[in-house]
Amino acid sequence: MTKIKLAIVGLGKIARDQHLPALAASDAFELVGVASPHNALEGVPSFKDLESLLKAVADIDAVSLCTTPQVRFDIARLALQRGLHVLLEKPPGATVSEVLALEALANEKKVTLFASWHSRHASAVEPARQWLASRPIRSVAIHWKEDVRVWHPGQAWIWKAGGLGVFDPGINALSILTRILPYSLRLQSAELRFPSNCQTPIAANLDFSGPARMELDFLHPGPPRWDIDVVTDSGRLSLSKGAGEMQVDGAPVPLAPGGEYPRLYAHFADLVRRKSNDVDVAPLQLVADAFLCGERVEVAPFHE
Ligand code: NAP
Repeated sequence: MTKIKLAIVGLGKIARDQHLPALAASDAFELVGVASPHNALEGVPSFKDLESLLKAVADIDAVSLCTTPQVRFDIARLALQRGLHVLLEKPPGATVSEVLALEALANEKKVTLFASWHSRHASAVEPARQWLASRPIRSVAIHWKEDVRVWHPGQAWIWKAGGLGVFDPGINALSILTRILPYSLRLQSAELRFPSNCQTPIAANLDFSGPARMELDFLHPGPPRWDIDVVTDSGRLSLSKGAGEMQVDGAPVPLAPGGEYPRLYAHFADLVRRKSNDVDVAPLQLVADAFLCGERVEVAPFHE
């Protein structure tokens, strides 16, 4: 089968850590270019922006947008207008409405838009969804806690408007929850803690109907906690390591091998071949709801 010729836009941490290795191991894609204001990739034609890349490199089929979320919309719109298939890193945009506008444009241009949620490709997500499908749920507890200085060094964009703060990792938990729960989550209340020198929160507690309680913390020392526990009428499901591991009533459940990003790219290839979209704004909508109705508490300034 012909390979999909793909360019990466935004050569930062996630592009280097995950997208490049997944593409190198994929039979479905060929990396033909990179666009990044301050970065180039040896051996691959590299440009400052997508417009320059499109002028210089013919026959591009698709782009993966690994930029910061605040700049993603204009780049995605340009790519879709030029008839390219587009993969958006999470979060798919800075606002819900811009993602919906991109979806409409993709439909008009008859190209694929994949608003990706990498955590949904973790090994335990599909087994957890199936396990929960037939069990009445009593309560859900989410602990998503990590040290921002370890996991996001130098990423000043996280603290600017549209950067999501602690919801940058927290939205991964919401992307898992909105996939595995057999009902929709509805936010009831939230408390967001904003450092006095930042536009985005460093910690948050959210309560959803269900009930589900979510605790997010960006100043968590030591090993991260990316855990979801679900108590049902017939047992307890525990997901840990970002749904990389699963236990039922304390007993480990064997999971299929393989990483999130290889599966994410296999899904993108499948969407392109089927001329289909995958755009689910539910996780971003819940974060937007928290910003809409959450109580704001000012806390100590954050300095990296
Ligand atoms: P990062 O290391 O700060 O990289 C962001 C990149 O965006 C930078 O390299 C920058 O390129 C590029 N960029 C900024 N403005 C641009 C523009 N106008 N045109 C093209 N490129 C532009 O951040 P990251 O950690 O990779 O995160 C990027 C996205 O991936 C975020 O949405 C994040 O939530 C998501 N993500 C991150 C992780 C993670 O573990 N870090 C995991 C999964 C998903 P230059 O450096 O060349 O200026």
